[in-house]
Amino acid sequence: MRIGGFVKSSLIDYPGKVAAVVFTQGCNFRCPYCHNPDLVYPERFGELLDIEQIFDFLQRRRGLLDGVVFCGGEPTIQEDLPEAILRVRALGYAVKVDTNGSNPEMLAEVLPYVDYVAMDIKAPFGPDYSRACGVEVDDYEIRRSMLLIRASGVDYEFRTTCHPLYMPAEKVPEIRRILGHAEKYSAREAK
Ligand code: SF4
Repeated sequence: MRIGGFVKSSLIDYPGKVAAVVFTQGCNFRCPYCHNPDLVYPERFGELLDIEQIFDFLQRRRGLLDGVVFCGGEPTIQEDLPEAILRVRALGYAVKVDTNGSNPEMLAEVLPYVDYVAMDIKAPFGPDYSRACGVEVDDYEIRRSMLLIRASGVDYEFRTTCHPLYMPAEKVPEIRRILGHAEKYSAREAK
């Protein structure tokens, strides 16, 4: 697994839990407002962290931390994500995955071992979607991920980052219509 960053303890990345955060390196999207460009653009990549050192840390913090968050970048493009999640679970931690929803196959593989998923809905479906992602996106894959998450029984949230040019806040009601009002959904302005 390519790990570009690690936060030992966070109170804001996993609702209701004190969690360590693993930032995977690499993303298949190029959202123009990306908050983590150092994990997206290869020319900005920093040194990789050693996953074994992270597992050593997690081993030592058992009982002090509640969970581990895999975010990025985009964690579902990491081929060994399932293995890493299983190792984290074996240490007794709850697992949260943050995803852009582009990889339903990987999502299906890991959902049985995940306790919480936060998935981005970048824009209303159609041409707006690719514009917000900075690459051509087949929103059928995004819908598949949504359905998988809903059907999984795993705790989840959908979320949107608003940006005046790429995802104006006025379009949030369109996304809410797609999701239905019962969904756990939040929209926030890009930083
Ligand atoms: S999906 Fe997330 S990490 Fe990837 S480019 Fe978009 S905002 Fe950045």
